[in-house]
Amino acid sequence: MTADPVTSNAAAPGAEYAETASAAYRAALQVIESVEPRIAAATRKELADQRDSLKLIASENYASPAVLLTMGSWFSDKYAEGTIGHRFYAGCQNVDTVESLAAEHARELFGAPYAYVQPHSGIDANLVAFWAILATRVEAPELAAAGLKHVNDLSEADWEKLRNKLGNQRLLGMSLDAGGHLTHGFRPNISGKMFHQRSYGTDPNTGFLDYDAVAEAAREFKPLIIVAGYSAYPRRVNFATMREIADEVGATLMVDMAHFAGLVAGKVFTGDEDPVPHAHVTTTTTHKSLRGPRGGMVLAQPEYSDAVDKGCPMVLGGPLSHVMAAKAVALAEARQPAFQAYAQRVADNAQALADGFLKRDAALVTGGTDNHIVLLDVTSFGLTGRQAESALLDAGIVTNRNSVPADPNGAWYTSGIRLGTPALTTRGFGADDFDRVAELIVDVLSNTQPSAAAGGVSKAKYTLADGTAERVHTASAELLEANPLYPGLTL
Ligand SMILES: *Cc1c(COP(=O)(O)O)cnc(C)c1O
Repeated sequence: MTADPVTSNAAAPGAEYAETASAAYRAALQVIESVEPRIAAATRKELADQRDSLKLIASENYASPAVLLTMGSWFSDKYAEGTIGHRFYAGCQNVDTVESLAAEHARELFGAPYAYVQPHSGIDANLVAFWAILATRVEAPELAAAGLKHVNDLSEADWEKLRNKLGNQRLLGMSLDAGGHLTHGFRPNISGKMFHQRSYGTDPNTGFLDYDAVAEAAREFKPLIIVAGYSAYPRRVNFATMREIADEVGATLMVDMAHFAGLVAGKVFTGDEDPVPHAHVTTTTTHKSLRGPRGGMVLAQPEYSDAVDKGCPMVLGGPLSHVMAAKAVALAEARQPAFQAYAQRVADNAQALADGFLKRDAALVTGGTDNHIVLLDVTSFGLTGRQAESALLDAGIVTNRNSVPADPNGAWYTSGIRLGTPALTTRGFGADDFDRVAELIVDVLSNTQPSAAAGGVSKAKYTLADGTAERVHTASAELLEANPLYPGLTL
């Protein structure tokens, strides 16, 4: 399909003020050039590279020029430790305005009683949430029992006892190879050092989340916290069921919607699939499907909001006020009807991508998708994830390798390729375009052979049949040209 390059993604964020944004960027680059020209050059090159690549990384997106421009301001220079109206520094009235607006947009957009917009990233949002839950459920009852108000009032011995108790709690989260995230209690991450962790997985036959198994693990392990949410699971989750399980064992339900916040904001996930009313605490990034600046956010029910509000000084230092300002702009965009249409297209496009693979006999984990992620099982092509990822990159298709459940190739080489639709949907790609993307990926993978290695077949090396990379490059360049990134933006 060749779409009209002018109108195909006229709904792309920022298209209507591209000319003004172009002037702003030209001026900014000129200023940067006068100090460190190599950074100006790298900045230009990054835009050119992003424009020229078929980006299927499920966690990436393209923020609007309004969001990007908001970050380049003097709010970056202001310290504002504390919270709205209660700062440890003078002169924070404008930061208060920014943080209040961002939080208000977040509450309205997600229907949350409370929103905290200071976390610098998804991992920070999770740390704030973990410690807010620990403060509410472990620290506060100890202080109350001792008749004290503040941790500083505890004796050295009682403080040591409390510290041990805080460090001795249990967390149940989704396993990494089923699509869970490193921050959900895995040892290389601080969450795994803080908590005794156990994980739940997916049904080995269907690849779907097995709620009975989650309930069984919860009854046996009795965690303080159950974490739901994922970064590589191609299906929806029933958060009402997760909450029932949490309630049965007295656990706090924390949902990390870092990946799919855009689908919640865009009302694609509603009812039992909307985590916000069901979770005690919901965390997210703001830069993935939500299409905002790089950052994090925590939404909370009233019983946890006071503790979350103390994220600074608990976990965070001074907030990135320039990024909070950009969060406010992105959240304002996400409250527009156009964002709901975008989110629906993200899901429809994932469906089209999955159908494109299935009709070409490629295997998908769970046999399809009903969110923004498609997890391609590349063992059907006789390849490892590592080989598939590299061969696709040779042909100009940017993806990332990912484990599949019970992965025979382990966490490094893997057997899967994770694909996501949020970024290309922002460029204006539609269902026909994603069918073509599936065709191109199948073209590359069926023309890739694992290389021989001493003692068998290499898990990393491969050869791509002559002409494949060129053929696919040409075809994807056509798709990219028909759906330009930042249409009308010229540097
Ligand atoms: C991306 C992601 C994070 C981490 O976000 P950062 O901003 O990179 O720190 C946390 N949890 C989940 C589920 C994610 O997908």
